[in-house]
Amino acid sequence: MKILTLNCGSSSIKYQFFDTHREEGDKVLAKGAVERIGMKGAILAQSRYDGDKVKVAGEIVDHGAAIEYILAILLSANHGVIKDRGEIDAVGHRVVHGGEVFTGSVLIDQDVLSVLNDNIDLAPLHNPANIKGIVACQKLMKETPMVGVFDTAFHHTLPDYAYLYGLPYVLYKRYFIRRYGFHGSSHYFVSQRAQELMGKPLEEMKLITCHLGNGSSMAAVDCGKSVDTTMGFTPLEGLLMGTRSGDVDAGAVLHIMGREELSLGEVNTLLNKHSGLMGISGISSDMREIEEEMEGGNERAKLAFNIFTYRIKKYIGSYAAAMGGLDGIVFTGGIGENSNLVRREVLKGLDFLGVDLDSTKNDPRSSEERFVSGDDSRVKVMVIPTNEELVIALETERLVAN
Ligand code: ADP
Repeated sequence: MKILTLNCGSSSIKYQFFDTHREEGDKVLAKGAVERIGMKGAILAQSRYDGDKVKVAGEIVDHGAAIEYILAILLSANHGVIKDRGEIDAVGHRVVHGGEVFTGSVLIDQDVLSVLNDNIDLAPLHNPANIKGIVACQKLMKETPMVGVFDTAFHHTLPDYAYLYGLPYVLYKRYFIRRYGFHGSSHYFVSQRAQELMGKPLEEMKLITCHLGNGSSMAAVDCGKSVDTTMGFTPLEGLLMGTRSGDVDAGAVLHIMGREELSLGEVNTLLNKHSGLMGISGISSDMREIEEEMEGGNERAKLAFNIFTYRIKKYIGSYAAAMGGLDGIVFTGGIGENSNLVRREVLKGLDFLGVDLDSTKNDPRSSEERFVSGDDSRVKVMVIPTNEELVIALETERLVAN
């Protein structure tokens, strides 16, 4: 099946075009991104399976125009991969927040779209862009089935005592305030892959998956099911991130709001855009720069690195306790896959849990899929490059085929 996957952000769209039946080579025929939608200097860049690369600059006023550009490139004589729009069998959309309604992927129809619109309140930073992408595709590809794949869906198996906050229960009932968790497609993909690599039955699989990128989250995956995760009602909770604070005492936020006389919007920006690695280091939200500065002796960069790694270590301990054991730890995402320093610092001192990192396997700065624990390590540690788009494509195929 030929499937277009779309990941629509507020000013960007990332896409991949899959041929799921392709036997040889990569199932991805083309992948690319449109950046700076609605701004000056908008650009589409695509690379094709055979190495062909193209960049197109243009006036891309909105998500509809961006998707028209994507379709035009996919169809173009020189850089395309299809001859007719009808060759696109289905479109899979990444949707960030599924709320309590969507516990799995869905075929999108008008009813689904209206529930998504009702849910905007839950994810005002993300879902509106996802919806814009869906509506634009509905206009441009009227006959093509579409599927929504939710970042929250994999975490719908959390027990109530893990997903509820210590707030008045009535607020959960009234506003659906609870932990949802995100990066679900990634945690699902790497936990499945870890199981394949370890070759043990699902019942013996207590895994902790660490998705560490600009946004970072961890999940406790027991017998293939997510039983706890660090992100919460929004993707702000949990680990320290590029520009997001992660866990912080709500009382401190209230105190800052009072002292600095911040509005809701301002405090939102503070926590989401000016905190995390950026806020602590004062240098960068990018882990590569943090590591460079740290190695050059910058104390604030070192502090940001220490907070980042300490929290991950702390959650590993708590998730091992929550599951009553641990068989494997997976690192994925830009930082998790590439940073040997982060992995080394996170796992330092965890030999009491049965973790034995092998530095000759860990140290090469390569994102290649591999075990980085010693052969005798009771807990296996793995680097597994994530592939959220593949999950979206396969989910789309599954729903459309049914
Ligand atoms: P996103 O969450 O936006 O998808 P990514 O998963 O691409 O982000 O991760 C981006 C992060 O990965 C950045 O902090 C970047 O510095 C980090 N990263 C990428 N390559 C390396 C590397 N070789 N060493 C350390 N960090 C890296």
